[in-house]
Amino acid sequence: MNLALWLERAGREDGGRPALGLGARVLRDYSGTAGRAACLAGALQQQFKLAAGDRVAIAAPNCPDYVELLFAIWHAGLAAVPINAKLHGAEFGHILDNSGARVCFTSTALEGGIGAHAPRTLERLVTIGGADYARMLACDPIPVAARSPDDLAWLFYTSGTTGRPKGAMLTHKVLAAESEAYLNEVDAALPGDAILHAAPMSHGSGLYIAAHVMRRAVNVVPEFGGFEADEIFRAIDAWPRTSMFAAPTMVKRLVESSAECDPRNIRTIIWGGAPMYVEDALRALDRFGPRLAQIYGLGESPMTITTLSKADIANRDHPRWLERLASAGRAFTCVDVKVADADDSGLPQGEAGEILCRGDVVMAGYWQNPEASAATLKGGWLHTGDIGAFDADGYLTLKDRSKDLIISGGSNIYPREVEEVLLKHPKVREVSVIGRPDREWGEAVVAYVVGEAPQAELDTLCLGAIARFKRPKHYVFVDALPKNNYGKILKTELRALDESRRTAG
Ligand code: AMP
Repeated sequence: MNLALWLERAGREDGGRPALGLGARVLRDYSGTAGRAACLAGALQQQFKLAAGDRVAIAAPNCPDYVELLFAIWHAGLAAVPINAKLHGAEFGHILDNSGARVCFTSTALEGGIGAHAPRTLERLVTIGGADYARMLACDPIPVAARSPDDLAWLFYTSGTTGRPKGAMLTHKVLAAESEAYLNEVDAALPGDAILHAAPMSHGSGLYIAAHVMRRAVNVVPEFGGFEADEIFRAIDAWPRTSMFAAPTMVKRLVESSAECDPRNIRTIIWGGAPMYVEDALRALDRFGPRLAQIYGLGESPMTITTLSKADIANRDHPRWLERLASAGRAFTCVDVKVADADDSGLPQGEAGEILCRGDVVMAGYWQNPEASAATLKGGWLHTGDIGAFDADGYLTLKDRSKDLIISGGSNIYPREVEEVLLKHPKVREVSVIGRPDREWGEAVVAYVVGEAPQAELDTLCLGAIARFKRPKHYVFVDALPKNNYGKILKTELRALDESRRTAG
């Protein structure tokens, strides 16, 4: 099974349907997109002499050509290595070197930076839309290469909130299972519906491209590529029945924007990738209505471990509605999920432990890293490094990444529960809670706060909602929190910053 068959068939059977959109307009139909992918595949195989399984990188900001490139790579029997366009030149160099990609597609703006750090294994750097690209499109189309379900389709470099990024091997089977899970359990897109890629196509949003091709929907890219609320709202107004994947920070930006759109055009806004605080989810629900869903997953089990449905999020009458809103929902049908102790034995419902999962949607391992693969996939289960607990109805609440847990005076404190409380203060815009080494307590709770809330008021809030020992012992007020390119707060960096402040002062 080759995923490329989805586009090839759509081109043959439904050629006139719009496949790609740019801003408010249709850019290309399925026949045109499938035709271009077949020609690009021909060039990769015959002009560039790439062999089955070779890696081809895409290091470019979101653009409609991303879709034809991904499918062209699969069509030719190759594996794609999408790379976040916001990385530093040296980080591009690391991923290109580690993956051994022979070809890299890039944009005019990134070409120089990547060229300067390109490893010797990289034979060609092709600018999307440039003269070489046009020559590739003039090549003869080829038939779709035969692939087995276990062949590599996408080498997904994890965003690396800890250490150097590793390549999670996502096979054709993994991406097919992920696409089906999405359409069945998150968002039943119909032919002609749109998916707006406002978040990076190298990451979460890109993992929804194939599902929408499978369903013959339209993959739409905002005209100017970035994440500007008014541009996104304009695109939503232009595409009835639009869905969009967004990190919680992006949803927050949309909620706070003074720009407007008709929420009835939104099919679903799917959030994931980081915790959404209940306060923020409530504001999003007020602004966009019952059109929000959540997914919990990670590069190693892409977009697919648990999901909180639109119905659950909007079900204000349910007695445990707010608890559910604070959870990451229930397990997707295609995965087995358990909460386990240090020996991987399942824990009773209500107890917190590491979240493990297994199923067709789990990666085959890390690229050329048998030690990390063996440790992460020990006993056939993916060890997520996330801590969570199931409730009686099967809803999984994520506490934190295991390494973010604070142990103070022998008690476990999950930063997220403290953060949820502090965010209730109207003058707290963002917050991140970490542990600081402390002689007396082992670790002391420290809250980094963006906003002007008086400390005494924050203390009062905590005393009214959580155990006294969880209340921050120190507050640090800052202008911004360190974040990675996907908007995730980097607690590792925050801890290092805290350490240097302490030693300096
Ligand atoms: P990545 O592999 O870069 O996508 O990062 C995956 C990590 O993001 C997970 O291990 C979680 O810690 C976090 N994450 C993903 N989805 C959610 C979610 N819905 N709520 C809270 N954290 C999440």
